[in-house]
Amino acid sequence: MNGKDQVTTLKGLGPKKAAVLEKLNIIKIEDLLCFFPRDYQDRRTFTSIDKLTQGRPALVRGRVKSLVQDGYHKKGRQILRLLIDDHGHQMEVVFFHGKYLSKVFKLGNTYDFYGVPCKNNGKMQMVHPDFSTPENREMGILPIYSLTSGISQREIRRWQKTIIEECEPLIDYMPSEVIERQNLCSLENAINNVHFPKEKSRLLEGKYRLIFDELLTLQLGLLGAKATMTDKAGGIIFDKKVKIDDYISNLPYSLTKAQKKVVKEIDENITSGQMMNRLVQGDVGSGKTVVAQIALYKGIKSGFQGVLMAPTEILAKQHYADLKDGFKPYGIEVGLLVGSMSSKEKKTVLDELKEGKIHILVGTHAIIQPNVRFKNLGLVITDEQHRFGVNQRALLSEKGNHPHILVMTATPIPRTLAVIIYGDLDVSIIDELPPGRQKIITQTIENSRRDQCYDFVEKEVEKGRQAYVVTPLIGESEVLDVLSAEEVFHELKSKFKGKSVELIHGEIKAKEKNKIMERFYEGEINILVSTVVIEVGINVPNATMMVIENAERFGLAQLHQLRGRVGRGSYQSYCILVSKNNTEVAKARSKIMVESQDGFYIAEKDLEIRGPGELFGTRQHGIPDLNLADLVKHIDILTKARDEAMAIIKADPLLKDKKHEGLKDKVENFFGEDFAFKL
Ligand code: ADP
Ligand code: MG
Repeated sequence: MNGKDQVTTLKGLGPKKAAVLEKLNIIKIEDLLCFFPRDYQDRRTFTSIDKLTQGRPALVRGRVKSLVQDGYHKKGRQILRLLIDDHGHQMEVVFFHGKYLSKVFKLGNTYDFYGVPCKNNGKMQMVHPDFSTPENREMGILPIYSLTSGISQREIRRWQKTIIEECEPLIDYMPSEVIERQNLCSLENAINNVHFPKEKSRLLEGKYRLIFDELLTLQLGLLGAKATMTDKAGGIIFDKKVKIDDYISNLPYSLTKAQKKVVKEIDENITSGQMMNRLVQGDVGSGKTVVAQIALYKGIKSGFQGVLMAPTEILAKQHYADLKDGFKPYGIEVGLLVGSMSSKEKKTVLDELKEGKIHILVGTHAIIQPNVRFKNLGLVITDEQHRFGVNQRALLSEKGNHPHILVMTATPIPRTLAVIIYGDLDVSIIDELPPGRQKIITQTIENSRRDQCYDFVEKEVEKGRQAYVVTPLIGESEVLDVLSAEEVFHELKSKFKGKSVELIHGEIKAKEKNKIMERFYEGEINILVSTVVIEVGINVPNATMMVIENAERFGLAQLHQLRGRVGRGSYQSYCILVSKNNTEVAKARSKIMVESQDGFYIAEKDLEIRGPGELFGTRQHGIPDLNLADLVKHIDILTKARDEAMAIIKADPLLKDKKHEGLKDKVENFFGEDFAFKL
């Protein structure tokens, strides 16, 4: 058997199972072999029932002493309760879908159960444990895979065993000098130990190797993208004679020190003859937009066109309106392109863009389309870029002849991490808010005091202010005990008679959403109930209240973003976090929110209190999902991988060397076909 063979080469793996595997992107034997466990169960020894510890997973062997069908669960499922006896010690085993299982277990027979014990009314209990008869039990450190239905853990373990025994080892793509320098184990060892570890130390060794590989691939891609982009960059030069001060001095305010510093960094880039590729990171409300405007001013006055891409139509329209106003006195024409426009409107914009009549195009993803052509694109700006992928950014810049690139984001991530994640970008940070901003008064309250919270909302509305109410879900959930936007909307509608209450969420059509948002901007809506769709960028200075329902279900970064929607005008603003069933983590989050409004501080704390295993999503930073690696947990490995990647790219920027062939394949597979790193 060879890694390149189809998975159907395996015994017992027919077309049906192959189709399920294909959904997991597993087609060849090597794909299956590189499909790693998400977790392990230590089933090496049995634990006696009297030695069970709450919360610690354990393997128990016992006899079924009684078997009762006991009432119905809330979805009409029958509950099965078993009393399990192990040398006189007893525990209860519960299944919530017990109808079929009641025929599987036989009174008096012995079974093995693996699960997490918990105490219920003083009795030890396992809910939904894995079980087996002593005859077909599996012992050892068992791998657990993230599967979809149609394939069982047992099956996949069997296949992995067969592959490891019968398949020729995969060729190690890592150059031998890297293996030596970094003290890595062989690929074959790593794979075997990660699937079927004999002991913990071997597992860690194997995991280390695979995590290193993944992070090296990531870094090679990001650094490679930078090398190829700046390499090709004959670099558009913006006119040194265009004085940005002419624009800055006409602003209604003076720039903060931080803004000035960033503007200077940008100005140096765009007049240097080297292509700019810069990330501007600045907390919500720190004034990133004006920085973008200054860069655009310079570009347009130098005879180029610019483009600004935003992640939502609402935001694009807001930028469009701002830019149109701001640039009018300078004879700079701004156009808008969003999905909801009629094809006639779109055509006009596209024509004017091609002819160069429109100097700046503002829009959503719509502007990546191939039919969008510029006359002379010199500057590409993306706002809140964590919503866009590396690929989309690259596609956009291909519309010009290596235009300068500016990426703005409000997702505050610690500096060390930013440099590593955005390996392909230089980073500027606006770490200061414009003066005179009022502190947003933040409070956490228990669910039982919700009424008081809405009494307060009423007072603000009476004063002419507006409020946001955010919930985690759109519609009612059968599983979660959480308020939905729809429920809250109906509740508030009847509570605030005579006031305008509206609902907005991701499933509402774009046109409808825009209409609602426009009415909110105009002050026609008093209270806007929504899901996190309003999270990014919205600027309504008259809104002073942010109520977050079930705040315990939001992450810190999200809470901070949401709070940033208020406090944007001269009125005192408030953020109220309503929560229920607070866990320790949720309590810690609330405390930090009350304590601080500094996005960078909050981001650092966020990393500290995240439980292990809770991934720092890479998607939101526009890079593909990582498999085993965690950018936060594995920062040490990440640093080593980065150093190694830099050395490799320096010696061989296009990975043309024969010894880098395997790594090149890996990078291309990881980033996908249309990644800018075209080697
Ligand atoms: P964000 O960084 O969140 O995108 P914006 O660019 O939307 O922030 O700026 C928020 C508000 O602050 C806007 O109303 C903008 O006009 C204002 N602003 C920006 N810079 C300054 C400044 N230096 N002084 C006063 N107000 C400013
Ligand atoms: Mg913004």
